[in-house]
Amino acid sequence: MTLSPEQQAIQVAVADLLAGQASSAALRAAMLAGDIDRKLWQQIAELGCCALQLSEAQGGLGMGTLELCLIAEQLGRRLAYVPWFESVVLGTSLLGELGAEAEQWLPGLADGSLISTFSTDPVQALPVAGGWRLDGRIEQFQAAGSADLLLVTARLADGELLLFALPRDAQGLSISPLQLHDASRPAACVQLTGILLADCLARGNSLEEKLARLRLTAATVLAAEQVGVAQQCLDLSLSYVSGRVQFGQPIAAFQAVKHRCAQMMVSIELARSAFYAAAATSDLQPVAAARCLANEAAQFCAQEAIQLHGGVGFCWEYDPHLYFKRAQSNSQWFGMSTRWLDQVAAELLQEALPHELPEEAFQAEVHAWLEQHLSGEFLAMRGCLGPGDDSFAPALAKRWEQCLAAGGWVGMGWPTAHGGRDLPLAQQVAFHEAYVRAGGPGRIGHIGEQLLAPTLMAYGTPAQQQRFLPGIRAGTSYWAQGYSEPDAGSDLANVKTRAKREGDEWIINGQKVWTSWAQESDWIFVLARTEAGSQRHRGLSLLLVPLRQPGITIRPIRQMTGSAEFNEVFFDSARTEASLHLGELGQGWKVAMDLLGFERGVSTLGQQAQFEHELQLLLSQARRDGLAQQSVLAQRIASAAIGLQALRANALRVLSGAAGSPESFVAKYAWSNWHRDFGRLAADVLGPRANLIDADAAAQRLRQVWLYSRADTIYAGSNEIQLNLIAERALGMPR
Ligand SMILES: Cc1cc2nc3c(=O)[nH]c(=O)nc-3n(C[C@H](O)[C@H](O)[C@H](O)COP(=O)(O)OP(=O)(O)OC[C@H]3O[C@@H](n4cnc5c(N)ncnc54)[C@H](O)[C@@H]3O)c2cc1C
Repeated sequence: MTLSPEQQAIQVAVADLLAGQASSAALRAAMLAGDIDRKLWQQIAELGCCALQLSEAQGGLGMGTLELCLIAEQLGRRLAYVPWFESVVLGTSLLGELGAEAEQWLPGLADGSLISTFSTDPVQALPVAGGWRLDGRIEQFQAAGSADLLLVTARLADGELLLFALPRDAQGLSISPLQLHDASRPAACVQLTGILLADCLARGNSLEEKLARLRLTAATVLAAEQVGVAQQCLDLSLSYVSGRVQFGQPIAAFQAVKHRCAQMMVSIELARSAFYAAAATSDLQPVAAARCLANEAAQFCAQEAIQLHGGVGFCWEYDPHLYFKRAQSNSQWFGMSTRWLDQVAAELLQEALPHELPEEAFQAEVHAWLEQHLSGEFLAMRGCLGPGDDSFAPALAKRWEQCLAAGGWVGMGWPTAHGGRDLPLAQQVAFHEAYVRAGGPGRIGHIGEQLLAPTLMAYGTPAQQQRFLPGIRAGTSYWAQGYSEPDAGSDLANVKTRAKREGDEWIINGQKVWTSWAQESDWIFVLARTEAGSQRHRGLSLLLVPLRQPGITIRPIRQMTGSAEFNEVFFDSARTEASLHLGELGQGWKVAMDLLGFERGVSTLGQQAQFEHELQLLLSQARRDGLAQQSVLAQRIASAAIGLQALRANALRVLSGAAGSPESFVAKYAWSNWHRDFGRLAADVLGPRANLIDADAAAQRLRQVWLYSRADTIYAGSNEIQLNLIAERALGMPR
């Protein structure tokens, strides 16, 4: 999910060219003139962008859909007035697949001297002596006015589909340019009257198959273009709101404005992750995810751009309306989102389960191990969701952790020097997927394994690492997270718990709250004020404190789910050894924040797999109830499924990218809101049964998801705090 140096080079080269040549003024001038920007077209061709996906034997560069997407994204940002999508993505791709019949056109298409376009709307074909006669009308044929070669499909009376190439001067061809709101992508009404042609280029099933493939590629590349549209709307808005002053300050300083911009960024990054994933496959769901999320991002961002510009946003001379119109016209092409959702719903709700992932050797190993070990006393845990699930028994869950640890599945990505297996990311992903497919239960040791352990590796002394990592790795020692306090929730720097040095011990007094699994844990890491009188982020340290001691009282708090995983933890002169501060004394804020950063790490893979499991549960319910494939509920299910595709793509992008990347900033907000909406959907699918508490295990799990997912947008940085972070840290808006 990261771009290779060559891909980055293409992206930068096109972006640089367009930054210089495809300004708003150039676009507006070209739109007025009514012809494509010929100079820009030539420069794009000189960069090799017209021959990209042709094979080397065909005079191309042999590249794939992702490279097309990277170019489309840049062209979308500038609304570049060139028929690149029509000629290259549609026309050249199609002709490149046809072999000898189409070879004559490829050199011209590759060097940009020939422009093609393609329409999916079929006209009528009639066999006549010496060939075919074509008649019909194509209401909106993009780029028909500037193309040298028009590729059209036509149906015979028996329904068979044929493909023809028409030179623009073909007798009987009439091209009438249309007046359009989205004037940045010209189209014409094309009339075919008794056109006689000797040859058709392709026909029948083989043509239908080629067009089905082309439709998936086109939808993916168009999604990338929509992301470019959305990105430019955000960039225009950021620039405007940072300069516009109202109430004595830039409007960018208002939280409502910051949150709007942050939400735009969330929608853009998810859609970008989705098209990266779609470009690597030709499966329906990832492509539908890219298409639908990108349409949504473009339309949402264009609408917000107009809103954030205020009155000038409604003016012709400002650009947001150009993007608003392009976002809309793009969303109608190659199938509206609702059509893609219908197809996904049909695939999901059909009786047979969705296709299984291919079983790689490593997944087979994991699967065999799980089949063997998820038995005996652990059989009851199969499919158990974990916290929030009534059947979740902590003592049994800990024995299961030990069993997993003995199999080498705890800390599997840790370096071998720390007792791990240093497994590559791909195998960790494979493990989590196989785990969920085998009905592996929710895990109880994640605070130790996934939050504290990486922090210990980054900040711990060798003595601390040797003391604590083996217990976490073996599933014998459990940790709680002591950050929140009654007066320090979102404003964590308001921590009041204090620790005073006495001899070779810290004496701790104060209170933590909402402490998950404290009642089941052996240790807690406590953010405490170790410098008396210090304020805010300064003078804090992260202390490692044993929980089982007289100075600590733990009181479970009952949650809205009915169960009690979190607690109040009171420290009344509790003690820990003087050496047990993680990182430097007084620098606890940085350590604590970096620890939170690990929450976006590999742990998200297990979470993705869990979400996938929940989706499968919901689908089983929907199939059992015979949910109609064309219903609104079915569309919501399809929407949830493609949302999950995008989350997964984003998580993989986060894990393979650099820390602090745009996609990592949006991850928490994106998954928690997806899960909250999914919980509501689960309740709606259950209908009146959502209100019951009964022994139907599958329904009971979905009810728990409905209730428990309410917490996701609160803990680990609430929605509002996430939006503040995205706006201020990722978008650089004022604090
Ligand atoms: C299930 C669950 C498990 C948890 N587990 C742990 C744990 O193990 N350890 C731990 O330390 N903590 C834990 N927490 C606590 C969690 O981190 C806090 O609940 C969270 O940080 C929010 O703090 P708060 O509850 O005090 O809400 P508040 O900070 O009072 O916020 C209330 C509302 O105001 C909004 N708000 C606050 N400040 C702003 C602002 N500046 N701008 C806009 N809106 C704002 C919030 O977004 C929220 O909607 C857990 C919470 C839950 C729900």
